[in-house]
Amino acid sequence: MNLMAESKKNILKIAILYDDEFLLHNTGHNHPENSDRITHAINSLRNDSKLKLNLIWPSFDYAPIDVISLAHSKEYINLVKLESEKLSGFSAKLSTGDTVISKQSFQVARKSVGAVTHGIDQIMKGKVFSAFAFTRPPGHHANKDRGMGFCIFNNVAIAAKYLQQKYAIKRILIVDFDVHHGNGTQDIFYDDDSVFYFSIHQHPFYPGTGRPNERGVGNGLGFTLNIDLPKGAGDFEFIEGLKNQLIPAMDEFKPEFILVSAGFDAHENDLLGQLNYSDDGYKKATNILSSIAKKYASNRMMFVLEGGYEPTNITKASQSILNTIISP
Ligand SMILES: [Zn+2]
Repeated sequence: MNLMAESKKNILKIAILYDDEFLLHNTGHNHPENSDRITHAINSLRNDSKLKLNLIWPSFDYAPIDVISLAHSKEYINLVKLESEKLSGFSAKLSTGDTVISKQSFQVARKSVGAVTHGIDQIMKGKVFSAFAFTRPPGHHANKDRGMGFCIFNNVAIAAKYLQQKYAIKRILIVDFDVHHGNGTQDIFYDDDSVFYFSIHQHPFYPGTGRPNERGVGNGLGFTLNIDLPKGAGDFEFIEGLKNQLIPAMDEFKPEFILVSAGFDAHENDLLGQLNYSDDGYKKATNILSSIAKKYASNRMMFVLEGGYEPTNITKASQSILNTIISP
């Protein structure tokens, strides 16, 4: 191999999972979870001369119903299909609660799941070092049979089940740093000792769950870890939480894969969240997560977008994460 081919091979590749179809989930006028959130980040990444060499943009398909049903009931999946497809372009609310849907939402949500499972395939087959899925709609409030918040299918929960089913991965860590507690993800794995759910979020805040005394039940007792932060907390509390609570827990659990519910609504100046993480905070957090991934998980780590309601924050924070993966 000549020198040039060798240096090309050594460039760390990261898969960006994105499809224009994600823009078709129409939440109506003035809804914070809108398509501008991701177009800004995607356009910036495509034009980032520094990151460009490291990024690949694979295409992917809709997730089959069998894959979505790894974390959701067939009845709920069918309800999403029926209630969205009957709409004639206008937005309405899913009958399970407060989630806005439009005619294309079922297909878009299926494609979001397809993005995360394809990202996992790319990592597990050694085609990329890591992956970042810029999906809409987000997923962490959705549980087995209910959409909630801005979430329809729980992308990260399905990803964890998919890793177990397809690749026989035994222990998975889900790190959720969205400003909101991921009640749906917690619920799906609450009695499960094979998936460790760690969330750091604002309290009191929507959806109200995620207190430190929520630690799991049955076999899952001790495999849920919640840190709730008061309004106004920032990088210091974020990083201390990871260092003092997540790292020791992972030295026991020894995850084989890390999934990150990457919401950026804890970023300073978010429209909804009132925490103050900075781009440098996301950099420090990425270094901590990378060190856990390196120690126990053969570096296997995938980021999946959750919330974040200031497009420029999503852009800057995700670039900070991607740059940190490439050069810690
Ligand atoms: Zn959120």
